[in-house]
Amino acid sequence: MTPEQLWNAALGELELELSRANFTTWFAHTAIQKIENGTVIVCVPNTFTKTWLESKYHASIIKALRRIADDDIHSIVYKVSVAPGNVPASRSSRPETPAVHHAPRAPQRVVPPVGESSVAVAIAEPDESFVRDEIGLNPRYTFENFVVGKKNELAHATCLAVGENPGTVYNPVFIYGGVGLGKTHLMQAVGHVMLRLSSNVNILYVTCETFTNEYIKMVREGRADEFKDKYRSVDLLMVDDIQFLAGKEGTQEAFFHTFNHLHQRNKQLILTSDRAPRAIPALEQRLVSRFEGGMLVDVSVPDLETRIAILKRKCEQKNFGLSDEVAQYIASNVQNNIRELEGALNRVLVAHELRRETPTVESVRDLLSSYAASTNRGAITMRLILRTVAEFYDLAEDEISSDSRKKELVMPRQVAMYLMREEIHASYPNIGQELGGRDHTTAMYAYQKITKEISEDEKIQGDITLIKQRLYN
Ligand code: ADP
Ligand code: MG
Repeated sequence: MTPEQLWNAALGELELELSRANFTTWFAHTAIQKIENGTVIVCVPNTFTKTWLESKYHASIIKALRRIADDDIHSIVYKVSVAPGNVPASRSSRPETPAVHHAPRAPQRVVPPVGESSVAVAIAEPDESFVRDEIGLNPRYTFENFVVGKKNELAHATCLAVGENPGTVYNPVFIYGGVGLGKTHLMQAVGHVMLRLSSNVNILYVTCETFTNEYIKMVREGRADEFKDKYRSVDLLMVDDIQFLAGKEGTQEAFFHTFNHLHQRNKQLILTSDRAPRAIPALEQRLVSRFEGGMLVDVSVPDLETRIAILKRKCEQKNFGLSDEVAQYIASNVQNNIRELEGALNRVLVAHELRRETPTVESVRDLLSSYAASTNRGAITMRLILRTVAEFYDLAEDEISSDSRKKELVMPRQVAMYLMREEIHASYPNIGQELGGRDHTTAMYAYQKITKEISEDEKIQGDITLIKQRLYN
């Protein structure tokens, strides 16, 4: 077996183990350079990838290699170099002299794979004067204020790297996941870093809505050139909630050209969406492939530990004491997303500061009971689940409950049944009834099947999380 064959076979195995985003991110442009006395030399395109492979995927890689190769493989060395016959990940067309906007630059830092807390970026405090209105950055959305946990560490590490090396490491960055999970925060943190590293850098943050409205307005007023100038002269363009481009053909076209213009010039693009590019309905294929050609990272609902860490961090910032017990209580009861968690904490802060009292589990329970009522499961019905699932998969409700056994309908149908059982404890006969008069055994089967798939398939897991968020928001 040649090194190339061995590596391809190993990649085949790793691909099955990892999510698509992770796999393409970390294994694109890698290769085995040679194998010497049981040591495999793997070339990787940059130190960022090297660090991640070493710390995150080493065990899986060595396992895969050992499974495939008959010879004894006892170690792997990851080496930063361009894989033979391969294009480097940071595009080779990059000009030798970087554009002028990269003025005083902090020394390049290898981004460590991050653990519990956010990595402080070793640069000066933000200068609020940079945070101009037309840029649209929220001064709070910095890396320092961002708590890292398992569900956002990839997105965080990516953004950190991009902030320090805009336009060269990963372009575009596409962050996706449900509402209130830190997408906007992370994206803007990149903007803050770039502003701190260079004062004359040109940054633009817009929501997809603003982009759309400006485009329509300026074209109508015969100011299309002005629109072009504005969007094509930036070093970093952030477009938030890009899923809203769905179905807007003219705006998609304008965005496509803006994208290409910037990308060709190594200007950084960061986009966010509530779902992966492919899952955005009515998004042109050429945009999907542009988005997928960069770094795709997801954020999902943080685990309990991270939620507690976030609460503690926010309290520290506000100089407010919160006992472990109370933090644990709040974090256990507010689970959907971080925005809600912040909302709950603010409610606790305000109430207790007014009364000059220290929060206890009892006092917080009272406060949050009304809060819980607003996200009450009682409001969720089978109908609402059906509608939400249908909207999510861009189907009509009656398609989901129809007799059709088409593959693209079966899975959403089973997801709907699963959620009816899981979220509102509907009975199997009722679920069957709601979904076009099916037998209760069908509902039972669907529930078991999806339960199993959630533990094995990140895509389904992600879909379910997003659908639940929509249900409860
Ligand atoms: P999204 O864009 O995904 O809907 P946002 O970025 O607006 O979410 O985040 C919602 C709120 O939660 C913001 O106030 C943000 O600062 C906060 N937040 C999100 N993620 C984190 C995190 N990991 N650490 C600290 N605060 C966070
Ligand atoms: Mg957002």
